Amino acid sequence: MSAHRATAPVDAVLDLMMAHQRLLIDPDSPHDDRCAHCRDTQRGRIEVHVRAGRAIPMLLPAFPAKSPNPDKVLGHLPDLAEELSIAFLETLCARIREVYPPGAQLIICSDGRVFNDLVRIPDEHVSAYQQEMANVLDRLGTEHISLYSLDDVYPGTEPERMRQKLWADHAPDLDELRAEVRAGGPALGLYRGITRFLFEDGKVPGFRGSNTTLQRESRTRAYEVIGRSQAWGNLLAVIHPDAVRLSIHPQPCGHEKFGIFLQDNADDDRWLTPWHAVAVEDRGRFRLMKHHAAKTAGGQLVLRHGRPSHYVLPAQTTPHPEG
Ligand SMILES: [Zn+2]
Repeated sequence: MSAHRATAPVDAVLDLMMAHQRLLIDPDSPHDDRCAHCRDTQRGRIEVHVRAGRAIPMLLPAFPAKSPNPDKVLGHLPDLAEELSIAFLETLCARIREVYPPGAQLIICSDGRVFNDLVRIPDEHVSAYQQEMANVLDRLGTEHISLYSLDDVYPGTEPERMRQKLWADHAPDLDELRAEVRAGGPALGLYRGITRFLFEDGKVPGFRGSNTTLQRESRTRAYEVIGRSQAWGNLLAVIHPDAVRLSIHPQPCGHEKFGIFLQDNADDDRWLTPWHAVAVEDRGRFRLMKHHAAKTAGGQLVLRHGRPSHYVLPAQTTPHPEG
């Protein structure tokens, strides 16, 4: 395919990505989905596959395991929140296939095994979550999505040993990481976001420490979580050097990693994910809420496949415009 003929599908794929971009907003610089900086950063990685006429590999480190915090989630297994996100991502890939027939191959790099010990999630829960995610993909009959985890990298290895191997082979420089966070900018935003998750998720039933202690611990563990995530990212870069790198976290304009929403309604809390929330049906539309918020709003729990699945909010008595 000539350079000229490759341009149209590449731009069409970029249009679809930009329509769902999860951007780290800089209040000082206006931004829209025509942004040349963001497009140019991603263009090269897409073009190389389009010119070769093959599916565009896209990596998304996501769907690690459910938060251990019952105030946020329904339990440790995937539920309708995950299913809706997977259905959305599959639809996005199907739209890519419409504009570029070889399509995209989205590889969900489930990173729960990478840091579950740091966030107090048992390895058995990670295994059960991964198994049920595979069932979700089967049920939905996804054509463009596959799952990949540390278990695929080091098959038949004890989880603790897997994490040691990952760190030994791919660890980032922790001093550099600390310097990046101290310098402010996106690294600081990520650090703060993860510290907040760790603090909130640390308040599990049975936690008896003080908030100050938990806050201090959360800051220390945030560095370890980010470090392990970077080690996982380094490993993925070795295995899939040409893939488009997607992220569930809001990323700054023009970053090599492209932040992407996991659902259509992009007006939700920028940090909510299916594994930190529950799906809530509100007047025929689904969105994510924290578990306690869904209950407080009067939500009715719905069971599917014999397990808690999601909430339905009561019909609102909205005032009629004419009184
Ligand atoms: Zn941009």
